[in-house]
Amino acid sequence: MDSDVQQIKDRINIVDIVGQYVTLRRAGRTYSGKCPFHKERTPSFHVSPERGTYKCFGCGEGGDVFSFLQKMDGTDFPTVLKQLAEKAGIKLTPRSGARVATPEQKEHDERLHDVCEAAVVFFEQKLKERKDVQEYLKTRGVHDETVTAWRLGYAPAEWDALCRHSMSTGLSKIDIVDAGFALKSERKPGAGAERQNERSFDRFRGRIIFPIFDMSGKPIAVSGRFFEKVPGAKSDDEPAKYINSPETVLFKKSRVLYGLDRARAHIRKLDCILLVEGQFDLILSHQSGLPFAVALSGTALTPEHLAILGKLSKRLVLALDADAAGIRAGLKSAHMALVAGFDVKVPVFPNGKDPADIARENPELLKAAIRTSKTAIEFFLDALRPGTKDSRAYAKLVEAQVLPLIAAIGSKIEQEQCIRMVAARLGVSDAAVRAELGKTKTRDTDVPGTSDVRPESMEPALTPLEKKVGMLLFGRSSSKDKLKELLGADYIVELENRLQPHAEDLRFRFDAEVGEHSSDEQITEDMLASIETAVAKERFKMKFL
Ligand SMILES: [Zn+2]
Repeated sequence: MDSDVQQIKDRINIVDIVGQYVTLRRAGRTYSGKCPFHKERTPSFHVSPERGTYKCFGCGEGGDVFSFLQKMDGTDFPTVLKQLAEKAGIKLTPRSGARVATPEQKEHDERLHDVCEAAVVFFEQKLKERKDVQEYLKTRGVHDETVTAWRLGYAPAEWDALCRHSMSTGLSKIDIVDAGFALKSERKPGAGAERQNERSFDRFRGRIIFPIFDMSGKPIAVSGRFFEKVPGAKSDDEPAKYINSPETVLFKKSRVLYGLDRARAHIRKLDCILLVEGQFDLILSHQSGLPFAVALSGTALTPEHLAILGKLSKRLVLALDADAAGIRAGLKSAHMALVAGFDVKVPVFPNGKDPADIARENPELLKAAIRTSKTAIEFFLDALRPGTKDSRAYAKLVEAQVLPLIAAIGSKIEQEQCIRMVAARLGVSDAAVRAELGKTKTRDTDVPGTSDVRPESMEPALTPLEKKVGMLLFGRSSSKDKLKELLGADYIVELENRLQPHAEDLRFRFDAEVGEHSSDEQITEDMLASIETAVAKERFKMKFL
């Protein structure tokens, strides 16, 4: 295990990994850039390829390539380990000791992954056999390359085509059910052999399949859009337009965002998230050159989604369905996002179209709409108007729906601007709006645990002299003898112990001191000289005070 980690660190350059998320500039022997963990204008985030570590002097975040990816992607250590091992071409040694999941659970997860992958391959194959479905996708504006890239497929309009196929390749019925691809027929619940003998049928029948991927790009679930009924099936019910995989051990709806595995790096780079409603909206946004789009998969926006997205960017563009239900859902999402510290914008699409419609007609129009998005407050002020019968009703609606949004905004300046906007719109005084706002629930009351917590700075409380000595002790260990000579061996040993928790921080500070235009020797000499002067001054004071 430990040797695996070391091997990965040896083979992978942390600069390559971090560089996918942060634009890094070489500065001497380290690289620096704007910290991805807090908002800043000037770079205080440093990466050392030599040591394989990173450190932010602004917010204190620091660690190695493993902790970096965990924090950025919101994943856990085992996931990152697997991901990096693959990248480095290292076969992980199976470990027997402590781990989160038991070997049985692990094995079960693996089998479910196999079921998902096999199902997606099966659906992909079936789509290739259906010219009419391919035609339909074309009429929706989906290019062939997009079909391939997003691994779209087709679930035949049969009761158990997937089940029969999967079982013929050796996959177990229980696993197919557990992965969410089959339903048991209504019979007694059982386990083991009993379950194996139950009749089961496919969950997705006669549907266009959109696979949903985990962060490493493996399918873990699917979303199916209705295309045709199973022949002879007698049901008067209009089938649901979309059905999604149920929650499984692999698929947690409140945490999964459709497209995030591909959008992640773009979101980070462009510092913007586009959240769309549907599967078509999502793939067509990407196809249209908006690769920072993600979609929910069969659930409303959750604080968990926002926590995952918030690590990548705090600028959120909410692309809403223009109908009343879309606006209602949008109000909720916008409120939650504002409370979580996001800057929320909403694009206006002409004539109640959705992003997929616009992308099909003209991708440039979609891009333009996203670029010219309104602030959430402005958008809802406009969107709520048509539904009201008179100005009094409108004012009431604004009070109930828009003021909570304003109350959720963290910046007082922005709040003031919004107050003025609402006052102008309603033809009342700023003071009246402000008074009403005061009665509105303040922020953080609705959605607990999503406030924008900034990590405390880890900066140790050190005197300037201690800091300087520490930088030399850890950044340039060859200077230790000289330091002992200047300050006494006991003091140096004590200080070294005391500063041990901040060793990495101090090393980065030394690197920063060396910078681009200097050398280790030069900086060490300068620092020792200044320490010597400080010591001399101290002695001088002691003598006379
Ligand atoms: Zn930072």
